[in-house]
Amino acid sequence: MVEKKKVDVNEAPVKAKNVGKTKEERKKSAMPQRIIAIVFWLLAFACEIAAILVLNKTLYVGDATKQMYWLIGLLVADLILVIIGSQFWKKGNDIDPASEKDKTRYFLQNQMGLIVSVICFFPIILLLLNNKDLDKKTKKIVTAVACVALLVAGLFSWDWNPISEEQYEKTVSDYQATEIFWTRFGHSYHTSKDCPALKNTKPENLFHGSITEALEAGRNDPCDFCVDQS
Ligand SMILES: [Zn+2]
Repeated sequence: MVEKKKVDVNEAPVKAKNVGKTKEERKKSAMPQRIIAIVFWLLAFACEIAAILVLNKTLYVGDATKQMYWLIGLLVADLILVIIGSQFWKKGNDIDPASEKDKTRYFLQNQMGLIVSVICFFPIILLLLNNKDLDKKTKKIVTAVACVALLVAGLFSWDWNPISEEQYEKTVSDYQATEIFWTRFGHSYHTSKDCPALKNTKPENLFHGSITEALEAGRNDPCDFCVDQS
């Protein structure tokens, strides 16, 4: 009889929307982004391998002109795939940032996109520079394309505003109960809708929600006007 009235103590309390996620939950939510990033990076690397095979004629695609177009096409595909992968990787880091305590790991995790850019372009640049088979003009053009692609891939893959796990946790605990605002294009989060920095933001470009949502959207820079940075 008594048993029937027993309250289930294991029933989880209703989770408030603003409460931050645990490390495990963050890891889990970031996993799909990271897997997608790695798939895109592997495809990019496959394009580089294909380009190398076209370059040394293991893969014969036709005369010199055709070979040049194939090389450029594969390098462009390589570039697009690296950049897409890096965006997913950065998104994963916004959701589950690396700890600052281990400096090497912090750097590697945040700048993995840059490392991948180097892996996906540097070997073929070296092979192009040492190639004696291509005519001078083709060699010049394809090498220039590969160098520009490396530069562009690096710029788009570098994480310009990484956040550490420690900063993330502090920010979430500081603003758990605050409604946060952010915009479609900015990197900042705001604690006031009336912030002067938001004055010219169109309503369709203004978002609001919990601090966790703002950080997961990559808005991790405290606004200079409305966020107390003392
Ligand atoms: Zn602001």
